[in-house]
Amino acid sequence: MKKLASLSLDLDNKWSYMKTHGDAGWESFPSYLDVIVPRALEFLRERDLKITFFIVGQDAALDKNHSALAPIAHGGHEIGNHSFNHEPWLHLYSKQQLVDELTRAEDAIESATGRHTTGFRGPGFSLTPTVLEVLAERGYDYDCSTLPTYIAPIARAYYFFKSPEMSEEEREKRKKLFGKFSDGFASIKPHLVEAAGRTLVEVPVTTFPVVKTPIHVSYLIYLSTFSRALAMAYWRSALAACQFARVEPSLLLHPLDFMNGEDAAELKFFPGMAMPLGQKLDILNDVLSLYATKFDVVNVGEHAASVRETRALTAQQSEALS
Ligand SMILES: [Zn+2]
Repeated sequence: MKKLASLSLDLDNKWSYMKTHGDAGWESFPSYLDVIVPRALEFLRERDLKITFFIVGQDAALDKNHSALAPIAHGGHEIGNHSFNHEPWLHLYSKQQLVDELTRAEDAIESATGRHTTGFRGPGFSLTPTVLEVLAERGYDYDCSTLPTYIAPIARAYYFFKSPEMSEEEREKRKKLFGKFSDGFASIKPHLVEAAGRTLVEVPVTTFPVVKTPIHVSYLIYLSTFSRALAMAYWRSALAACQFARVEPSLLLHPLDFMNGEDAAELKFFPGMAMPLGQKLDILNDVLSLYATKFDVVNVGEHAASVRETRALTAQQSEALS
């Protein structure tokens, strides 16, 4: 029997990239959801994949996005909370600000999609104990805001290098963008965490076992700009390493994996955005086909539920033995 693996898409919108990058014009919340969401839904439907879409509350709060967002739930996908304002500095929020941030997002997402969220992924992988506490108190089943990697400081340095016009104050806020070096020591296996007297499942975004370099789809596409064969070999070995280390992986997608510079000129500076769309979708197809060959691919909520069940069984068994 194949082991479980999960697949999710962080529905970061055009404005949230512009905001994090410090570009003017994000305040009117320019959107590409009407183009990208139907494309992603079609792609997933053709491959019979049911995944989790993490939606940003601010997008759900705007009527102009409702026709793009409602079909996600109709397509049988799970809907998760990706914060309201998509600010990758949740570690600077007070507890009350976090409660407001999550509640606003939940309400907006529910009115746009009809779904109440029980899973959370914070923007920019900046998880703190207070975020976990608020999630537990609000009855969440799981969090998936961690990215165990040693390369966060390198990714951040590259990001700042590509954003030369950013002020010191803006840089300060982004100090933990992509996480910190010590995140590399965090477990890459989904596991249980205790917060506010409840148990949540933490489903980390999987990185390559041991070396902990990223394996999310945008990174594979980036590698493909050098060599597609190399990118696929890397992906193949990552999946083999997960099987060997008994890691049930959780793979992350982004809207940029379904588009190129012609869909959003403002985002042309991102790696892989010059690639023709057909070629990109072809790589995506290869990556996800291999994933589904090796693992039984489900949404993050199902993945978390299975982790909870397995851990409870293991606890019962060890109690029976003692
Ligand atoms: Zn995001």
